[in-house]
Amino acid sequence: MNSTVRAIFFDRDGVVNFRLVDDYVRSPEQLVLIPDLFDALRKTRELGFLPILVTNQRGIARGLMSEEDLHTIHRLLQSELTRRGVPLFHAIYYCPHGPDDGCDCRKPEPGMLLRAAREHDIDLAHSWIIGDSYSDVEAGERAGCLTAWVGPGGGDIDPDLRGLTLTDVMKSIEADKRRRINEWIDTDRSDGRE
Ligand SMILES: [Mg+2]
Ligand SMILES: [Zn+2]
Repeated sequence: MNSTVRAIFFDRDGVVNFRLVDDYVRSPEQLVLIPDLFDALRKTRELGFLPILVTNQRGIARGLMSEEDLHTIHRLLQSELTRRGVPLFHAIYYCPHGPDDGCDCRKPEPGMLLRAAREHDIDLAHSWIIGDSYSDVEAGERAGCLTAWVGPGGGDIDPDLRGLTLTDVMKSIEADKRRRINEWIDTDRSDGRE
């Protein structure tokens, strides 16, 4: 059966909330959401994608925070979205491991995306990952997703699209979807004429 469920996977730090200099977001006070997020989540749902968070949280492996701390931060994130009246993340996946743990979930490993695809029956080939790190784009490519880079930098990699802000990226994803629909309609019409 071909799945028609599509997702946009959001990296967290630097995409959903501001990254901290030389620290991990370890407590709710440190979680400052990027204002573009609210419209991005609305647009995600409007375009028919499930918004899913996929985040490496090495601070847990380093003993700087507990999984319970992370759950508290994610509960706050979701309740802030509720308060703002915008769609919540449909699911949240995190990797608590460090680079030497040999897990299959720490991006650039594609494990979180593959697990999400299994659990939510997602069509990865028509889903996106939005990230601000090389490892996000790499994880997306290895999972067979479309990839979007947000922010400056990343000149040495080749995502499917890039934008300076989350709003720019969402506009491009919308344009890409329109283009694909139009191509599909054109193909359908030309088939009909034969
Ligand atoms: Mg990031
Ligand atoms: Zn992991």
